[in-house]
Amino acid sequence: MAASAEEEKPKAEGGARARPGSAALHAQLKGIAKSYPAAEGHGLVHALGPLDLDLYAGKFMAVVGPSGCGKTTLLETIAGLTAPSAGTVAFEGREVKGRVPEGVGVVFQEDACLPWLSVWDNIAFGLRRAGAAAEDIRARVDYAVSFMGLGSFAGTYPAQLSGGMRQRVCIARTLVLETRLILLDEPFGALDQQTRLLMGDELLRLWRETKATILLITHAIDEAVMLADRVGVMSARPGRFIELVETGWPQARDSRIVEEEAFGRLAAHVWSKLRGESMKALGREDDGGAGGRP
Ligand code: ADP
Ligand code: MG
Repeated sequence: MAASAEEEKPKAEGGARARPGSAALHAQLKGIAKSYPAAEGHGLVHALGPLDLDLYAGKFMAVVGPSGCGKTTLLETIAGLTAPSAGTVAFEGREVKGRVPEGVGVVFQEDACLPWLSVWDNIAFGLRRAGAAAEDIRARVDYAVSFMGLGSFAGTYPAQLSGGMRQRVCIARTLVLETRLILLDEPFGALDQQTRLLMGDELLRLWRETKATILLITHAIDEAVMLADRVGVMSARPGRFIELVETGWPQARDSRIVEEEAFGRLAAHVWSKLRGESMKALGREDDGGAGGRP
């Protein structure tokens, strides 16, 4: 049964220290803010924060927010791909700086398959680069190929695959690296609705199998509510957390959870928080609908 969303109150200053249950702290953002130089060359664009966020080991968190609110910036900051203007990120107790830490995997929306390599070689790429032994590579890649249902495609090239299949390859590349924190930036954004739901099931299966911590950025409220233990709702730019919603789903779940009465309630609650922020992002006044009844 889903916990009441009202039980989660965000801290002031965009804080995100949600009730963790018994899970250990896995990654921690403190006072994170990011500004970019403005396109016209004058001043700065304040893209994100300041915000705090705690990610707990083995938990699945999703983040939704209006377009341009800093979601990608947030993910890249956690991954060590973007240096924050202020604040610190720690993964497993060590500061993240300048490079993606060992144990962290990133999956982007644009499928990042290497077109000149076969599916098998795409999946093996990271292990080869890390200098893994040939036998180890074979065992891990074969396992990932079979786990992601890519068996009959192992010898084919990305151009021969559908978008959904290419994203499976990208996820398999993360799987073989045995990552403990998987960061996904709108990975299913380009897929049709049915494929998106089924890829969500795949991701849940992967999460259960690997026991990894997951942070999924998505613009789809249904995807966030269906998949995550906790949904962080971000404000319009500069993005901060305005609400953290515990879904209360059991660990053994799949896309059929959309049939639950609680699913509709949670999705409506998230939308009520997001609506006003999305209007701000579109340059429209909030008409007071946010937080009210639809
Ligand atoms: P989201 O993923 O939520 O759509 P982003 O993190 O991509 O948002 O961007 C947040 C804001 O920062 C946007 O206004 C965007 O234009 C700006 N931005 C993102 N990356 C850069 C960059 N490298 N240089 C300048 N501005 C950027
Ligand atoms: Mg983005």
